[in-house]
Amino acid sequence: MSVSRRTLLAGAAGAAVAPMARAFPEIMIRSEIKPVVISSGNGNIFKNGGTETCVQKAYRLMMSGEDVLDSLIEGVNILELDPLETSVGYGGIPNAEGVVQLDSCCMHGPKKWAGGVACLEGIRTPSKVAREVARQTDHHLIVGKGAQEFARGLGFTIEDDLNTPHSRSVWQEWKRRTDPDHYLDPKKRGEDSLRVALEMVSEGIIDPLHVYGTINCDGINAKGEICGVTTTSGLAFKIPGRVGDSPILGAGLYVDQEVGAAGSTGRGEANLYGLCSFLIVEELRRGLHPKDAGISALKRVARNTIEKRLLTKEGHPNFGLQFYVLDAKGRHAGVTMSGGAGYAVCDDNGPRIEPCEALFH
Ligand code: ASP
Repeated sequence: MSVSRRTLLAGAAGAAVAPMARAFPEIMIRSEIKPVVISSGNGNIFKNGGTETCVQKAYRLMMSGEDVLDSLIEGVNILELDPLETSVGYGGIPNAEGVVQLDSCCMHGPKKWAGGVACLEGIRTPSKVAREVARQTDHHLIVGKGAQEFARGLGFTIEDDLNTPHSRSVWQEWKRRTDPDHYLDPKKRGEDSLRVALEMVSEGIIDPLHVYGTINCDGINAKGEICGVTTTSGLAFKIPGRVGDSPILGAGLYVDQEVGAAGSTGRGEANLYGLCSFLIVEELRRGLHPKDAGISALKRVARNTIEKRLLTKEGHPNFGLQFYVLDAKGRHAGVTMSGGAGYAVCDDNGPRIEPCEALFH
């Protein structure tokens, strides 16, 4: 059991605290930690027909003494299994050939575990397979057919198709509009595919959050144990085999038990180029507050974005990118390339959405 700072201060005469902390330094260290679970905003929206959101469930389990990573994975499983969440797991918007391919990774701070899967087909909960990669192998990343066979060997149910009627109909509409059987030159084809996806967003066929879309979830308990998990169906209509940032350690997620955790949603390519979750954790190590560490990574991405097709007329990146940052004291922040996004938080004040700090307004 940890001793909270409040209990210590309230329960003892103020004068008694200092000698106590000298005698039991670990009590004082622990008391500075505020247990919390944070995630991308979707972590306090979807409930898959149940009563709790991801951050709510993960926090409850964590506070009841469950392992932090197991609690977070139970949380993100809600979104992976929810057919209404079309950016994660079952019912995620498929790739250009209509196949749902999932990516995930997780890290366990105290155990120094890391595991990931990419291009995984047929399993609704890739985060659980990622955990098994960490727990049961000497490897950190298994992809494609190999990842599926690995999961089959562990008894995971493999399904032929993770599309829902909704995700399939969205793909059919996209295919009809882009006619991918007649390849344009590579540049035009890329532009066309994005143009159609954005057109479908503006017509309300695709949720704007789900062209990209993912959940990253990070937590710290009263003992200061830090873990994180990221899981996604990746970029809508991606080229089959495309792997984004989400399952890549240092990009979609990074955890350092002594320093903190960071994870990401949004344009994976922009994050991958700078391995921003790793960068953010290193900024925390230099003593930056989570908000400043996240903004520092966004500035790096902005500096590295020079292609005209990726810039607004003001010269800022025209894509969405968010980072969720948690430090070893339980301080946290969400940051976003441009305004409007929120991130989910659950602590002793309950689950809620807090605003992300934007680099550009
Ligand atoms: N980052 C994910 C990817 O690029 C998608 C997202 O989070 O929006 O695959």
